[in-house]
Amino acid sequence: MICPCQNKQNPVAKLYADCCEPLHLRVSEAISPEQLMRSRYSAFFLALGQYIFDTQHPDFRNGTPNDYQQSAESTEWCGLEVLESEQESYSGKVNFKAYFIDKDKWHCLHEISNFVLENGHWLYTDGVYQPRKVIKISRNELCPCNSGLKAKKCHLS
Ligand SMILES: [Zn+2]
Ligand SMILES: [Zn+2]
Repeated sequence: MICPCQNKQNPVAKLYADCCEPLHLRVSEAISPEQLMRSRYSAFFLALGQYIFDTQHPDFRNGTPNDYQQSAESTEWCGLEVLESEQESYSGKVNFKAYFIDKDKWHCLHEISNFVLENGHWLYTDGVYQPRKVIKISRNELCPCNSGLKAKKCHLS
């Protein structure tokens, strides 16, 4: 499958096996804040609570791996758009929009996440986000899930 963090319209979209899966399996590690952010989005999408927990800085965690698991399972994530990312030697930021469906309505989470490099590992600390808002999608628009299909042929069918 195409990795959940990728834009499926992109002709060079990577497969899950070549993108976030090796990170989820701990075969490799994120080498940039954006890569870590993408792998965390994919982990939310696939409900991998332990990975979400482990990749957040211990001083900023809010709950157990099980809490993260439940939060991920209760949300239908369906699209990621990375707007901008910045990386310095020991810190970084990623500005992104993530889409999810709750009670048949589309929501957009727009966040600027902060990351630090500690003992050679990139970790998410916290983020500044806009209030989650419900978005209206018209049937003729491209679906926010990045399938490349019009919404009426995809999530609004
Ligand atoms: Zn990925
Ligand atoms: Zn869709």
